[in-house]
Amino acid sequence: MPDKDYNRLYRQIPPVDEVLNKPALASLAQEVPRTLILSAVREAAAQLRDEIKSGKLVLPSGIEPRDFLTVEMVNRTTTLAVRGNSPNLRRVLNLTGVVLHTNLGRAVLSNNARLAINQAASGYSNLELDLQTGKRGSRYAPVEGLLTTLTGAEAALVVNNNAAAVLLALGTLAKGHEVIVSRGQLVEIGGSFRIPEVMAQSGARLVEVGATNKTHPYDYQNAITNETALLLHVHTSNYRIVGFTRETNIAELVAIGREFNLPVMSDLGSGSLVNTGKLDLPVEPTVQEVVGDGADVVTFSGDKLLGGPQAGIIVGKRKYLDRMKKNQLTRALRIDKFTVSALEATLREYLNPAEARHNVPTLAMLAARRNELAPVADRLCEKLTTAAGEQAQFSIMEIDSAVGGGALPTADLPSLAVAVLPRSLTVTQLAARLRDTEPAVLGRLQDDALLLDVRTLQPTEEDPLVQVLAQTLAGGAIG
Ligand SMILES: *Cc1c(COP(=O)(O)O)cnc(C)c1O
Repeated sequence: MPDKDYNRLYRQIPPVDEVLNKPALASLAQEVPRTLILSAVREAAAQLRDEIKSGKLVLPSGIEPRDFLTVEMVNRTTTLAVRGNSPNLRRVLNLTGVVLHTNLGRAVLSNNARLAINQAASGYSNLELDLQTGKRGSRYAPVEGLLTTLTGAEAALVVNNNAAAVLLALGTLAKGHEVIVSRGQLVEIGGSFRIPEVMAQSGARLVEVGATNKTHPYDYQNAITNETALLLHVHTSNYRIVGFTRETNIAELVAIGREFNLPVMSDLGSGSLVNTGKLDLPVEPTVQEVVGDGADVVTFSGDKLLGGPQAGIIVGKRKYLDRMKKNQLTRALRIDKFTVSALEATLREYLNPAEARHNVPTLAMLAARRNELAPVADRLCEKLTTAAGEQAQFSIMEIDSAVGGGALPTADLPSLAVAVLPRSLTVTQLAARLRDTEPAVLGRLQDDALLLDVRTLQPTEEDPLVQVLAQTLAGGAIG
């Protein structure tokens, strides 16, 4: 469109005041704050100008451009204002079968952890007050004792996440010095955590040894110099090297560390407190085992296999942990009261391991066997067929779920899904609409079906899921 043509059309966009005075928007102002309506009206105008300029806007015949643009302004403003007035962080029903889905907030907290957060939020607490002495206390006190009891370590510290834990440990123990790591362990986690980068950030110098598939004890021994401050072992949590391999394990590294008087650190990543083999999952070393092997510092996440809040947990020898506690960085990486409360409640679940398996949702979801999921899948399939059988075909399919969160990458968890085959929508349309419902629903697309893996569906979410799906499918093919 030539410049002056679209300038002419721009001028047909009604002014803000005129739009705001339309009855539809006047009544909207009862529910939506005025600031949000104002920014919505400006955004609507900007959208229309963009679409006029790019030629995307189609003016229908039989209506004056000005009238058409007025209707568009009112409709778009309403949509944008209503959207702006609803929470941006929304509830999502996870039917992907990925138990620790980083994009969906990782671990679902236990009942007790949720209650603890609620209590911490609803009033004051002794976060940094020792109630016995009336003096200032440590915010780590509520979790430190539990962590040492559960892991057998001398001391513990908790920071914002495991990336922060690694940064703090390296920065405290090896700043300006060398850290020896196997080439097979220079991992990248989740696109933003890379051992070489974290190392550089901490001020420690990385010394790579061995080859990708094999690193022998003598590789570490030969690389040790006066500059060496730490031997680091990184759990290759999100991939496996198979075949012709040799890893120097923690116990071997500890032996070398003792010989050369150097601390050994293990970045465990997930850091399970229970034997994953007992949940029918691939066996991972537990935190207790790594501590028992003599590692001086062990770091792991709070919201991976532990099933707690986002946190980076550091356990190990007191002399190293004390140095970390004094590091200024600890203040910057400190956890808030919600994390303290949820982590304490989560750790308390582990005092009774047999119960933890049922009470910690992450463990319960990971441990669920296909035959245990069958009643859920059957019931869901039946409810959906009753509610929306005319709009879609529902059937049960065997699939594999994943642990996620970069944990246990080789585990496949035999699971069941309800496959949804919509009749008048494409499966991509259905998936897109389900991202826009309240709560949003996320499944897995496969061929012409949307697969709803029941492993990650929470017990209270069954009916909301049926309702949202039935409504969305009934919405028809247009729009
Ligand atoms: C996940 C992971 C991290 C990062 O932990 P966050 O808690 O996500 O910060 C670091 N190291 C390893 C080995 C991991 O698996």
